[in-house]
Amino acid sequence: MLLPDARAAIVATCQELSRAGLVVGTAGNVSVREGDLVAVTPSGVRYAELAPDLTPELVGVHRLDGAAVEAPLAPTSEMPLHLAIYTARPEVGAVVHTHSPAATALSTLVDEVPAVHYYMAMFGGPVRVAPYATYGTDELARNAVQALHERTACLMGNHGAVTVGPDLVTAHDKCMYLEWLCDVYLRASSAGTPRLLPPAEIAAVAEKLASYGQQPPVA
Ligand SMILES: [Zn+2]
Repeated sequence: MLLPDARAAIVATCQELSRAGLVVGTAGNVSVREGDLVAVTPSGVRYAELAPDLTPELVGVHRLDGAAVEAPLAPTSEMPLHLAIYTARPEVGAVVHTHSPAATALSTLVDEVPAVHYYMAMFGGPVRVAPYATYGTDELARNAVQALHERTACLMGNHGAVTVGPDLVTAHDKCMYLEWLCDVYLRASSAGTPRLLPPAEIAAVAEKLASYGQQPPVA
């Protein structure tokens, strides 16, 4: 089996996302790139831990042009999104896409995630919201790649969230932090008008994080 570790890690990540309530049913998809191969979740398989339909064998391996190399099922309908990100961003080794509740709700309200917390800096700056386009289209993939410019996360308008990282653990962690950040904004804005941090502060924290090797801030 090609890329056995990546495929097993994808299954574990999907189950974790499901446990955390960040994916529902078959929504959301995860991929890992190794060299010129991409392991990606198949279309329409449930991720729930109690119904573990997804196995490493069912995670398909494709080339960067989308051609199947070892894939028993059709890939996720968002395959164009994953491939466009890997093509545009050689440093990216993993992509996580979810319809997590807070990120999806906020994607209907704003063009950029408001900087209510310094955790925003871990994404490289303010997280943009890509304009809506129909799921699975090249247009949506283009919009997301543009919104991800110099960032490790974006929202897709009226759709969900995308996070990227050099590896799957990092992309998954960023997915959790992004959902938390969106949730904090929604809670704060439902109770009043949140104070926002100025762009200079987000930039300063981003610099500080970079000097700590991109570790998530724990303070
Ligand atoms: Zn989606």
